[in-house]
Amino acid sequence: MIFDLHCHSTASDGVLAPRELVIRAAQQGVDVLALTDHDELGGLAEAAEAANEAGIRLVAGVEISVSWAGRTVHVVGLSVDPLNPVLMDGLRANRSGRLERAQRMADSLAGVGIPGALHGARLLASNPELISRTHFARFLVASGRVKDVKTVFKKFLVRGKPGYVPHQWASLADAVGWIRQAGGVAVLAHPGRYEMGKEKMSLLFEEFKAVGGTAVEVVTGSHTADQVPIYADYACRYGLRASAGSDFHAPGEGGRELGRLQPLPSGCVPVWLNW
Ligand code: AMP
Ligand code: MN
Ligand code: MN
Ligand code: MN
Repeated sequence: MIFDLHCHSTASDGVLAPRELVIRAAQQGVDVLALTDHDELGGLAEAAEAANEAGIRLVAGVEISVSWAGRTVHVVGLSVDPLNPVLMDGLRANRSGRLERAQRMADSLAGVGIPGALHGARLLASNPELISRTHFARFLVASGRVKDVKTVFKKFLVRGKPGYVPHQWASLADAVGWIRQAGGVAVLAHPGRYEMGKEKMSLLFEEFKAVGGTAVEVVTGSHTADQVPIYADYACRYGLRASAGSDFHAPGEGGRELGRLQPLPSGCVPVWLNW
């Protein structure tokens, strides 16, 4: 069975519509797919219908942006009720600051001689409530200023670089709480991407566990092969289950293809164990 429990559609910063994404996942041999758009549940109904037709299982998911100790971390919710009002309200609040943030990002880029970025990013964002850094990155590539999206995230849009602006997202406790109130399980996304030392990482795991987190992404398109056993160890140490997801966004953008994931290391308890 191939599980891919993290990916994005046009409801957030993916380039495939939910239906196309599900069809692609089925073609790649995925048996169980979770659609986990950033701060948004709007793609799930279409994805569920397409999954029915394609004969694969769709898990209703979401990836919530969280501010923790002055940084941004992501928490994936799996098997959530997409109509739960607590989750819907929380996500709406998280989305509501994005346009004003995008304006500040565009102002910052204009300050280094790159005008028109908000307009450019908006044209690329199918969901007007969900303008993300990815849309700015694609604008910078499409306008010929940077060769690819990966390079954008080295030179722009990250802390200390043009186009980066600080932003306040949901708290860790709130994000996990919304997921649980919607009947889901909370998964700490791609910890290997967070640039923090071991002490801070341990604090993050402790707090995640304490507020009701259930699992951590051990195998993800954001982890190198070396990082997989490291986060398998964290999962064991903190009594967390292990998840796996590609974090697929777009064909040919340099990220992991749907379903192309190594098995979980032995000793991990899969988040899907009793599904
Ligand atoms: P935002 O939620 O607007 O801050 O955008 C976050 C998104 O930017 C992530 O979900 C990724 O899609 C993208 N992103 C962040 N860092 C990178 C990176 N180093 N390479 C490619 N995409 C990235
Ligand atoms: Mn993304
Ligand atoms: Mn993420
Ligand atoms: Mn993601």
